[in-house]
Amino acid sequence: MLVKPEEISSIIRKKIDNYEEKMQVDEVGYVIQASDGIAKVHGIENCMSGELIDFGDNIFGMALNLEKECVGCVLLGGETEVKEGTMAKRTGKTVTIGVGDDIIGRVVNPLGEPLDGKEPYKIDAYRDVEFLAPGVMSRESVNQPLQTGILAIDAMVPIGRGQRELIIGDRQTGKTAIAIDTILNQKDQDVICIYVAIGQKGSSVASIVDTLRKNGAMDYTVVVSSTASELAPVQYIAPYAGCAIAEYFMYEKHKDVLIVYDDLSKHAQAYRAMSLILRRPPGREAYPGDVFYLHSRLLERAAKLDKEHGGGSITALPIIETLGGDVSAYIPTNVISITDGQIYLESELFFAGQRPAVNAGLSVSRVGGSAQTKAIKKLAGTLRLDLTQYRELASFAQFGSELDQATTNKLAQGERALEAIKQQQYKTLSMEKQVVILYALTQGYLVTVDKKNVGRFNDELVQFVEEKYPDLLKEIAEKKVLEDGIKENLDKVIKEFLELFNA
Ligand code: ATP
Ligand code: MG
Repeated sequence: MLVKPEEISSIIRKKIDNYEEKMQVDEVGYVIQASDGIAKVHGIENCMSGELIDFGDNIFGMALNLEKECVGCVLLGGETEVKEGTMAKRTGKTVTIGVGDDIIGRVVNPLGEPLDGKEPYKIDAYRDVEFLAPGVMSRESVNQPLQTGILAIDAMVPIGRGQRELIIGDRQTGKTAIAIDTILNQKDQDVICIYVAIGQKGSSVASIVDTLRKNGAMDYTVVVSSTASELAPVQYIAPYAGCAIAEYFMYEKHKDVLIVYDDLSKHAQAYRAMSLILRRPPGREAYPGDVFYLHSRLLERAAKLDKEHGGGSITALPIIETLGGDVSAYIPTNVISITDGQIYLESELFFAGQRPAVNAGLSVSRVGGSAQTKAIKKLAGTLRLDLTQYRELASFAQFGSELDQATTNKLAQGERALEAIKQQQYKTLSMEKQVVILYALTQGYLVTVDKKNVGRFNDELVQFVEEKYPDLLKEIAEKKVLEDGIKENLDKVIKEFLELFNA
């Protein structure tokens, strides 16, 4: 009897199908060793890297070390329940998080479980926590500003939608404050915000959520929290989970998203702890060799999609904590090289009362300039120059030698510029208000104002314009360029206010 080739192949195919089924039945192993949130599992050697492993009782782990004899899994919970002999089953899936519009306004852990004491949110889709970044072909260059509402930053280190801008500085220098102010400033801007807390104190996260709620920012914000008390693997997946939520809104809802990773130093530490327990070889500063890849594959996922791919963007603000201002340590240099610029905060400035403590000389934004509003861009050039000249001259002036008039003027202007960029927390400024303040400053109107009154002058000037000339503000907001007409009006208004102020 002749057998047709199709039949042979169909028989073989059937065998293979059955074979797979049999395989799946077999994909159950057991724990041979468990400690410190790591379980070594025997019997699931075919599993994928990053696969979700089911330990029963709703306890899951992630396969990370694929070895010949056993698989090293990190536990995402239940470190006391998982013991020697516990059954472990392959799921065939990688770690995912449930997403949906309903997640907005919620506080969740990196597995999507609510932490705000409310019901679970409605899930529309599951997204992989690890997801490939979009390629260059689907991207567009940064062309739309993301206003932080912080004058020093919007003027000198402008951020564009889709950009990755690092906030770096020692502890307690106002890093988180900048990120939170930026979130608060997205009110009515049609931007979804995601705040990812990694390895922080539970109380700090609670107070941040409280601040966001009080200011109405939870209407467009999601908080993903993994506190210091949580297992290292949970802290490790937190930023990826946050990013997966951001991707849902970018890819599927075509929204602009802002995501804050607070902070990636603690993230690297969690990864180091995990890797050392898994007995991966330690490298520089005892971090495993792939720690650079860890952060680059996360930050690459920030993007501005082009029109064909539906627009939408993810702007990332990673935070890094330095020790003693040392930016050349391993993790800081890595993240500096991955991002499109950094906002460098200095303790010295912070304690001298210069807050936000942005070091204008060392802070850069490599792409945001092309997205900056024209009006601000024009004025910011002068501001930068004033500050640079001041820095150069101030060191000479210290020696008390006689200064000529030009130098004295420059020093006076620089001092006023430094005062003008001081800004209280939670008091963000719209673009048009920033224009008014910068215009008054850079056109030299502040020379007659005493240095210590600059802050009050700006506050009152903005209030004055808001109350008496709201149309001027509206015009700046709409046109976004400093036309001659606007300049004339600004001159007139500022002169009028100056007389009132100095009277
Ligand atoms: P940590 O290293 O602990 O995370 P951090 O660098 O994130 O600290 P913040 O917590 O943001 O710093 O700020 C430290 C303190 O400084 C807070 O008490 C905050 O209220 C205050 N602060 C921050 N920015 C300003 C500002 N612009 N004006 C006044 N106070 C500020
Ligand atoms: Mg902080």
